[in-house]
Formats: sequence, C-alpha cells, structure tokens
Amino acid sequence: NLPPSLRAVVEMSRAQGEKIFLVYEDERVSFEAFYRAVSAFGRELQAQGVQKGDRVAIIMRNLPEWVLAFYAAASIGAVVTPLNAWWTGPELEYGLVDSGAKIAVVDAERYERIVEHLHNCPDLQRIYVSREEDEIAHPLIAKLEQVVGEPAAWGALPDQPLPPADIGPDDDATIFYTSGTTGKPKGALATQRAVNSNIFTAMAAGARVFLRRGEMPPAPDPAAPQRTGLLSIPLFHVTGCFASLNPTFFNGGKIVMMRKWDPIRAFELIERERVTLAGGVPTIAWQLIEHPARVNYDLSSLEGVSFGGAPAAPELVRRIREAFPNSIPGQGWGMTETCATVTSNGGEDYINRPDSCGPAAAVAELQIRDPADGVTVLPAGEVGELWSKGPMNAKCYWNKPEASAETFVDGWVRTGDLARLDEEGFCFIIDRAKDMLIRGGENIYCVEVENCLYDHPAIMDAAIVGRPHRTLGEEPVAVVTLKPGGDADEAELRAWVAERLAAFKVPVEVRFWPETLPRNANGKILKSELKKLFAQEPATA
Ligand code: ATP
Ligand code: MG
Repeated sequence: NLPPSLRAVVEMSRAQGEKIFLVYEDERVSFEAFYRAVSAFGRELQAQGVQKGDRVAIIMRNLPEWVLAFYAAASIGAVVTPLNAWWTGPELEYGLVDSGAKIAVVDAERYERIVEHLHNCPDLQRIYVSREEDEIAHPLIAKLEQVVGEPAAWGALPDQPLPPADIGPDDDATIFYTSGTTGKPKGALATQRAVNSNIFTAMAAGARVFLRRGEMPPAPDPAAPQRTGLLSIPLFHVTGCFASLNPTFFNGGKIVMMRKWDPIRAFELIERERVTLAGGVPTIAWQLIEHPARVNYDLSSLEGVSFGGAPAAPELVRRIREAFPNSIPGQGWGMTETCATVTSNGGEDYINRPDSCGPAAAVAELQIRDPADGVTVLPAGEVGELWSKGPMNAKCYWNKPEASAETFVDGWVRTGDLARLDEEGFCFIIDRAKDMLIRGGENIYCVEVENCLYDHPAIMDAAIVGRPHRTLGEEPVAVVTLKPGGDADEAELRAWVAERLAAFKVPVEVRFWPETLPRNANGKILKSELKKLFAQEPATA
C-alpha cells in the first residue's frame, strides 16, 4: 500500500534500525540515527512556529543535511521547497521570494551567496546554516549543528517520536522548480499523494521487467545485499529526490551521495559501497561506459543502470549491455509537473525498443493530442503533443495562475513534448515542441538528428539548433564536441547524416565546440545558450 504521506515513510523507516541509510564521504548515518535527527529538527521547526503549509526552503548541494531538512519539514506538514544549488544570489532570492519561505536551510557556500539578499526576503524568519566554520552572531541565523549535531552524532540524539502533526494524502508536500531548460524555472506544487506515487511507479517499473516475461518478480530476499543507489544527480530536481531518494528510503536501501559528479570517484564508490543502481541522467550513463578507467575497478555489484529526464540515444542500451553485462538497463520519462516517473522501459522491452521511454505506469494514462487544438486525441502511430494523467501530477504552478491554466487541465498535464504511442502503449518522445524546427514547411525533430550524430564514433556531444533563415524560416545547425582523439570534419559529419536521414534534415553547418556543451544541473543541454551564437549573426538568405 502506498504510504499516505512522507511522514508515514519516515515512521516506517525506523524498522530498519541500525542499517546504514546515508553515506557521504566518510560519514555514515543509520536509519535509526536519521529518524532521531528528523524528530529533533522537526521539533525545532515547530518551536520556530512552522505550521502546516508553511514553506521551508533547502539550498544545499547533496549532503545528509539536505535529506534531513527534507524529511523533517515534510514530517510536520511544511511544504518543502528545494532551490537549485547552482543558482546565483539573485536567482536564489527569486526562489525565496517566490515561494515565500519562512525558513531556509542552507550550506556554507550557498549562505555566502544569499547573505546579501536576505533583506529582500521579508518572509524569512530563520536560516539554518550547515557546515559553516565561522561563528555566526545574527539573530535570524543559526548553525544547524547546534540544533542536531553533526551527521556522525545523530545516533546520540534523544530517542523521541516525531512531533505531532496531522497530515493527509491531499495536503501539499513540496514545491520543486522545473529545470529551466526552456525558460524561467516554475515551482510545481505537489501533494503528499503525488510525491509518494513515484515510490509506487519506481517499484512497479522494477517488477514489470519480470511480469512482461511472464515471470513473477522475485520475493524480497533478506539475505540479498542492501539495495544501494549512487546519487550522482542533484536532490533539488525530482529525478534525484523522488525517483532516487524516496524509493530507496522506503525500501530500506542505502544512498551513496556524491560531493560532485566525477566518473573516477563514481567507480571508487561503486566498488567500495557495492552499489547496485547507478545512472540518473543519460550523460552520466555515457560517462560510466566510456571512461577508460572503468576496467580498473570491480563494478560487478551493479544490477541496474537507469536514467531519465532527457533524451537518451537508442545506442545507449547496447552500450550498457556491453559495459555492464550483469545489469538491467532502464529509462523513464517524467517531468517536474508529474513528480518524476510516469513511463518506464527496462530489460528486454528496452532492448527491443531502444528508442522508447516505455509504457505509462499502471496508475497513469497518456494521450497524444493535436497540438493545434489541445483537444483532439490522435490514434496510435501519429505524432502529437503528449498529455499525461495520474495521481503523480502536481496540482499547479506555485503563484502562476496563467501558466497553471495552460498546463494543468482537468487532471491532465499538457507536457510540451511531442511524442507518439505504439499499439502496445509504448511511448516514443520525439522532441520538445519548442525545439522542433520547421524548415520550409518540413518538420525537423532535433532529437532524431542528434541521435544520428551520436551514432558516429567520433562524437561525444551533439545538439541541433535552429538558425533563422529568411525564406525557409529556420535551418538546422549542428553544434558538436568530439571525443578525445576523435576525428571527423564537417563534410564527413554532414555526409554521415545524409546517408541516414532525409536531405532536409542534414545540418547546413557543423560547428565544433571545444568542450562539453553547456548544460543545466539536470544534465540537459542549454540550447538557449547555443542559440545566442546565432543571435548576433545576420539571418542567412
Ligand atoms: P523547463 O520546464 O523549466 O523548461 P525542463 O522541462 O527541462 O525545464 P524538467 O521538468 O526537469 O524541466 O524536465 C522535464 C522534461 O525533460 C520533459 O518535458 C522532457 O522534455 C524531458 N524528458 C524527461 N524524460 C525524458 C526522456 N526519457 N526522454 C526524452 N526527454 C525526456
Ligand atoms: Mg518543462
């Protein structure tokens, strides 16, 4: 049964006792120690006057304290509002003001960044700073360690239950901001039920690999090694928090947190902690496969490499099977507005359909609608806009009634993604509607051309962006990065695409980018940055 609230997940977790839940560098926190810290910090927040519905912001990179702040605030019914740790001072100010947060829990680095903006955030009543070396003498600011101690000492906190709070499945739980790939990030307000739905879809995705083969999923084996996830993506996005952290916590698994993404460090941690699940976003999966140092480590504990959140080249499945023959490849589609996972593809299904993000979870429903009217439902096989319905959907955007009315319609989320469904309900994401180019009346789906380029052995990174053209509207330009030692020139890459795709899809120009393409915290290529290249140039005739 789905736990009715995040608080209920915390209550259930206590049964795991002294098993390790969080690993960060040399720090290890057991489930029992974590529970005590959640109880202590929940009490502190209530003592500061935090009530149900009040926003508590978290501004930290992945640290045990992030997880603590998340569950402590959620356990007393506050609306947890994680902000993007990559944001600048003014962007963080936007997040704090937009959400009207009463409390902020921040790490020392982010504290430096926001301190001069605090006078612009009138709702803020208290700021907890973690891992700050210096003394703080400010009435609004406290050191988190003074309240709960350091993570290594959480087990010594008093044994007391969670403070009282009455929380139901329809109460608001979180505001997560979208990744800002296509515009200014928007906060999506989600209920307890919506957030916890992802626990169900994550587990169902694992089971489906067996059910499709006509087998029963294996019963949980108490002697099996603890499920261990390598957390290499930020917790402030739904993929990190909802798709990785929450299901692992619920299942008594272990989370190995990375200070920052680094493939060698990832290999070390996989070996040391016997990690069973790695991945997160496609770029990370690629780096795990391609890094030559991979062969120096014992990575045999890996049972799954899975990812979502951005287009994954079909080629990736085969490469995962070669590099990690014992692990099941998986991918899923979802968005902040759907609290992470809606579809998932894995195992043999994924091998057979390497370009699909899988069918919808049992509790969700997908439709392809005519983008022109947003109403007409298109038949299987046709490309249109993807609409998604299910208990995981957020309620609305926080503070944005107009954008909410466009996106949240009668229980459906209008995704802005172009997709098709096959006869069996497998979903194929074609492109973001905003990324699609129309060249003299012909549709060009950038993802298709990018995937074609990724098949070329010299390509590490590829993006297709539209350049304004006076008569054709737009024309495709490729921006690529070559692998170290990779060799290909413009003529060769254009010929490569021309052999495989229709002539109108062939990039008119290939630009070589000296380093990996600019990405946001979720690993998504920021095409807006690349388009700036062309903004200064005159439109081609
Ligand atoms: P913003 O909405 O602020 O522009 P964003 O859409 O990138 O940013 P997220 O909610 O993190 O913010 O990402 C959801 C989007 O990611 C989806 O709409 C889709 O375009 C893309 N996406 C997610 N999963 C997949 C997948 N498996 N395959 C292809 N694209 C995916
Ligand atoms: Mg979006």
